[in-house]
Amino acid sequence: MLAIKRDKKSQHVSLEWIFQRVFYLKCPYNWLIGSIYPCFASNALVSHTENKPQIMSLVVVGSMAFDAIETPFGKSDKIIGGAGTYIAWCASNFTPIKQISVVGGDFPESELAALTARGVDLEGVQIKKDEKTFFWSGKYHMDMNTRDTLDTQLNVLENFQPVVPDSFQDCEFLMLGNLVPAVQRSVIEQLKNRPKLIIMDTMNFWMEIAMEELKKTIAMVDLLMVNDSEARQLSGEYSLVKAAKTIMQMGPKYLIIKKGEHGALLFHGEKVFFAPALPLEEVFDPTGAGDTFAGGFIGHLAKTKDISFENMKTAIIVGSAMASFCVEKFGTQRLREISKEDIDARLAEFVQLVNFDIDLV
Ligand code: AMP
Repeated sequence: MLAIKRDKKSQHVSLEWIFQRVFYLKCPYNWLIGSIYPCFASNALVSHTENKPQIMSLVVVGSMAFDAIETPFGKSDKIIGGAGTYIAWCASNFTPIKQISVVGGDFPESELAALTARGVDLEGVQIKKDEKTFFWSGKYHMDMNTRDTLDTQLNVLENFQPVVPDSFQDCEFLMLGNLVPAVQRSVIEQLKNRPKLIIMDTMNFWMEIAMEELKKTIAMVDLLMVNDSEARQLSGEYSLVKAAKTIMQMGPKYLIIKKGEHGALLFHGEKVFFAPALPLEEVFDPTGAGDTFAGGFIGHLAKTKDISFENMKTAIIVGSAMASFCVEKFGTQRLREISKEDIDARLAEFVQLVNFDIDLV
């Protein structure tokens, strides 16, 4: 039976209550409120207690790493990092995950156990006992938006040949986090059925050493995510609008250009959507913010099973909200602490950030 939610004890429902009364009727962004909090949409003020929505299978591919980070505010020794790690910590807030990666014998078992406890299936993570885990080191400039890579030691990544387990063949959403482009492609090729949506992230490092390989992989995906300087490097265009057109001609139907503290742009054909980043008083460590954004974006799409452009707009807001947590502490620390209530409260802040009334002149 469908039950109307009236329990005001939980924070989520009390937020829902506030939104219903204060914002829903007059807010021009009610698509956003209604889709971030589906229960806010007037025709969805119900909880599907008996017909639990079926969860789509999300496969995540990406580096699992040790990072050493230097920011103007502090320095970390080797801490746990990697694109796949950040994506998994973030997206596991929304949906179970099947992870594909590789680590060395030096990668702590406790880290793998912590991910398993979060609902991350590690059958696709190879452990090379006699080899070392991928290592990356970076130093941020004063603006905290730009950084220099100080060291990249591929180690186990150098000869990594991913094997997609049979139990991952039900993959409906595929998130190719930053990794060797040929490895990302190999995962697509091993899947017997094409997923509903393939998203790919990459970085300037691969543009510098493997541009042709990278372009071959880009041609096979539905959505590419890059930051603004990578979009310019990949396209050879300074204007981001021209860069987006050029990149979409390479294959992807959708493109997200991340602009750090200045938000993110979503392109699809002639359509463009912009979402701001939450203005934060303190940014401690931006490492992994892009991967966390990707985890929130695909986590929301997999959870809602809706890959429309409208729902991607909401997914961008969810990704931006999750990234705003990531930067608050070093490494994955903050992502490990946050609760559903924290996420709901942050999403509500985003709704406020973009909520305004306008009279057309
Ligand atoms: P982001 O700050 O979102 O660009 O991601 C930072 C993460 O990417 C770090 O945790 C690194 O371990 C990982 N990373 C850095 N360089 C590479 C690379 N070439 N391939 C795969 N992962 C990388």
